[in-house]
Amino acid sequence: MKKIDGLEAIENCPLCDLPGAFFSFMDCRDHLVSGEVFSLCRCTNCGLVFTNPRPREENAERYYQSEKYISHTDSQKGTMEKVYHLVRKHMLKKKLGMLKHTPSQNKTLLDVGCGTGAFLEAAQNEGFLVKGFEPGEKPRETARRKGLDVMGDKKELKSLKEGSFQVVTLWHVLEHMPDFLNKMKHFSRLLKTGGLLVVAVPMYKSFDAGFYKNFWAGWDLPRHLFHFDHDTIKLSAQKSGFKVVKTQGLPFDSFYVSLLSEDYKKNPMGKLRAVVVGGWSNVLAFLGKKPWSSEVFILKKTNGLSRR
Ligand SMILES: [Zn+2]
Repeated sequence: MKKIDGLEAIENCPLCDLPGAFFSFMDCRDHLVSGEVFSLCRCTNCGLVFTNPRPREENAERYYQSEKYISHTDSQKGTMEKVYHLVRKHMLKKKLGMLKHTPSQNKTLLDVGCGTGAFLEAAQNEGFLVKGFEPGEKPRETARRKGLDVMGDKKELKSLKEGSFQVVTLWHVLEHMPDFLNKMKHFSRLLKTGGLLVVAVPMYKSFDAGFYKNFWAGWDLPRHLFHFDHDTIKLSAQKSGFKVVKTQGLPFDSFYVSLLSEDYKKNPMGKLRAVVVGGWSNVLAFLGKKPWSSEVFILKKTNGLSRR
């Protein structure tokens, strides 16, 4: 990879590995933290959209340095924070509902990028033996204060015993991982036979994404390094030892993302418009015309991946 001032350029497609076969897709500003402009590329072969160039891993931390990065806090001061936490509470129930087919004995779950541990706590209450991973020190400490078992060192994540979990969850986390495909392969090894990898990602082909274009909060550059659609998730699953068994929309995300996007646009009538855009996005998704603003993909481990 070529190195430029804290950024690195990607030369091969991170999903299909084809060299240099991508075109410039869109430029977007980091509205949340740095105000810097980043570019998106799309692979002509597999269709993966990715942030390119992107912050080098050792330089990425500073793009997370914001009190506004609310998935990392339990603070509920502003209106957006209140909305976020209200929605989160409702969504926890829905997310747990997606795991109801997990065998009822010795249920084990690993939540990667667990933030302050809200989902871990909810899963624990449902009888799961839970473990979390969170690289951010502040949210990790908050989670640990709740008595949760949360790792912070990548080496610990790497050295977990193979076949030790029934479920691994990545709630809006995969798009942040610089080597997402290798991580998925690793999670496949950590899962028992038939185990589930649950992946929630923003969908850039949704109506709200198209409406807000480069103001769409779901891009969240440069924190989001990859931007998926149904085909690229399916291909990622195949390449890492999984198959997609279920897809489900997250209807609240369209409102939340639209509200944030309007915030970035500083539109005085924004909140009202966000409700309309978010609502219409859900109608189109419900009718199957567009993807939902964010979707959850339930991937089941196949036996097709050997040890590397
Ligand atoms: Zn590709």
